[in-house]
Amino acid sequence: MLRQIPAVDGLLNRANLRDLEGRVGHRLVVEATRKVLQGLRQRIADGTLTSVSVEGLEKEILTEAEGGAGFSLQPVINATGVILHTNLGRAPLAREALEHLIEAAAGYSNLEYDLERGERGKRDTHTDRLFGPLLGAERALVVNNNAAAVFLALNTLAEGSEVIVSRGELIEIGGSFRIPDVCAKSGAVLREVGTTNRTRASDYAAAINERTRVLLRVHPSNFRIVGFTERPGLDELVDLARKHNLLVMEDLGSGCLVDLAAWGVRDEPLASLSLKAGVEVVTFSGDKLLGGPQAGILAGMRAPLERIRKNPLFRALRVDKLTIAALEATVSLYLRGRLEAIPALRMMRLSRQDITPRAERVAERISACPGFFAVVREGESVVGGGSTPGQALATSLVAVTHARHSAEELAEILRRHKPAVVARLEENELILDLRTVFEAQENEIVRAFEQLTIDD
Ligand SMILES: *Cc1c(COP(=O)(O)O)cnc(C)c1O
Repeated sequence: MLRQIPAVDGLLNRANLRDLEGRVGHRLVVEATRKVLQGLRQRIADGTLTSVSVEGLEKEILTEAEGGAGFSLQPVINATGVILHTNLGRAPLAREALEHLIEAAAGYSNLEYDLERGERGKRDTHTDRLFGPLLGAERALVVNNNAAAVFLALNTLAEGSEVIVSRGELIEIGGSFRIPDVCAKSGAVLREVGTTNRTRASDYAAAINERTRVLLRVHPSNFRIVGFTERPGLDELVDLARKHNLLVMEDLGSGCLVDLAAWGVRDEPLASLSLKAGVEVVTFSGDKLLGGPQAGILAGMRAPLERIRKNPLFRALRVDKLTIAALEATVSLYLRGRLEAIPALRMMRLSRQDITPRAERVAERISACPGFFAVVREGESVVGGGSTPGQALATSLVAVTHARHSAEELAEILRRHKPAVVARLEENELILDLRTVFEAQENEIVRAFEQLTIDD
């Protein structure tokens, strides 16, 4: 059978592969051919192949090369109902953010140029002015993400000194962000106080010594300790810090800029309230509840933020013009009170009544595909991104089953569709939550099911 393997040149000269070469270029076709032939030899060696078909090889090469020519980063339809899905890129950007981003990216900008004086400027002037009016912050800096913000702040304010943290706040966010590890890497020495469920101001006070610099408060984000619990108010921590000439820093995680109770988000700490209570530096993410691009925001009092700005690591962690543009445009929507323009917030606000008719429409169209059975039932969506654990948003789900294919198989077929659709799997049903699906994407979901019917 090895002798039946066609010569590479012969294959490449076939009309279909020459067409392919015109579309994706010589390199990708040769690479795909090499890979397919290698796979073929392997199957022959394994004894899993009974004959060699040139047409079959050609088809494999086409698929391989087309795949290689496509982008690796692809748009995905999020039918999971998790709004700030970290694996799916967290917050979708507002149209205003996209427009400003394109404007900034397509040409030159005053990124680091002072147009008034005609001389070199600083890129942080663009972001510095954003959070004053919203949060009452004297200064704000933006870095790559909140993990970087926490790291940079600790490195600046407490390298070689001690940081006191409650044992109830020594959290892991996922993706290996753990407060003790970040602390260690920043060069700060962690002093744990209190217990998992109860920590008092007196616990912090007892741990303060001449090496202490910072009292760190961390938002537990993706879990809650309930029951017999206690932790000091921010005002108590601030009082204690002032007495000992220390700083209070708070890692807020999500970054709730305004009260979002009307949008279905309760009990998220507001950055502005922390600053009002006297916390010197707060940090939070740009792409969680804020609904903007990936970024880490450091906001608060002038003096500590000036020190953070002067840290050489700031240069290593700073953001590019695309992020600045998207963040500036998103925050300006907050300033103008146009929260409904931010997709993540709009998705949070959808009620079950808003979603039910859409779910019914999609279920009906899926059920019309032979072999499929789809029903609408009540369920829950979540905000995600470590925000509001334990708080669910009422939704209507489409539960799909198929006469022959298992739910896992259906999920795989949806993932392979272009654009890919990511759904939930629950008890051998495929579950679609349209809360996180843009209305214009509903057709694509139905098309993915119709395609399966044709392929079968
Ligand atoms: C999410 C989160 C982080 C990490 O933020 P990224 O922007 O993902 O880097 C850090 N701390 C807390 C409390 C968080 O919730």
